[in-house]
Amino acid sequence: KCGYIAIVGRPNVGKSTLLNNILGQKLSITSRKPQTTRHQILGMKTTANVQAIYVDTPGLHEGYSEKALNRYINKVATTAINDVDLVVFLIDRTKWMPEDQSVLEKIQASKVPCILVINKLDHLADKQSLLPYLEEVSQRHDFKEVFPISAKTGYNVAELEAAIARQL
Ligand code: GDP
Ligand code: MG
Repeated sequence: KCGYIAIVGRPNVGKSTLLNNILGQKLSITSRKPQTTRHQILGMKTTANVQAIYVDTPGLHEGYSEKALNRYINKVATTAINDVDLVVFLIDRTKWMPEDQSVLEKIQASKVPCILVINKLDHLADKQSLLPYLEEVSQRHDFKEVFPISAKTGYNVAELEAAIARQL
């Protein structure tokens, strides 16, 4: 199996940290220039029967103001998201923000399958306290799967990668 994956979410939610955690030493390509006309490839990870290609979606993590420039950038991002096989949508464990909603609306417009990931679980002393929030956010979209993780400590990241492979 082989597929293109976009990790999306508002600024500071942990996208770069997650990508670094997933790719680790396996980071094979880093470039500021697009590798293809459609995607900027951030890295690839090939395991026994899966090749996961992580791509950037310009603008989807740069802010969502009413400014014309951002509108333009978001339009570009929407195009990029339409061309991937899977979206990994990161939020954090605190609360649903308007910026999360903006990202979700782009995902919904794209109709691309999406895994919801709740990050920064290491901040939670009591993991049980996540349950009501997990339930609330799960209902916002028909997510393929929902995963609590810590991109920083690596908690549940291997399981997320298995879920990504399942969806490709
Ligand atoms: P991005 O803007 O979405 O790419 O977010 P970054 O990956 O740059 O992370 C933003 C900040 O959140 C950085 O200070 C990270 O160290 C921190 N961060 C990311 N993931 C985690 C996590 O799982 N737990 C904690 N405690 N901090 C995290
Ligand atoms: Mg980043």
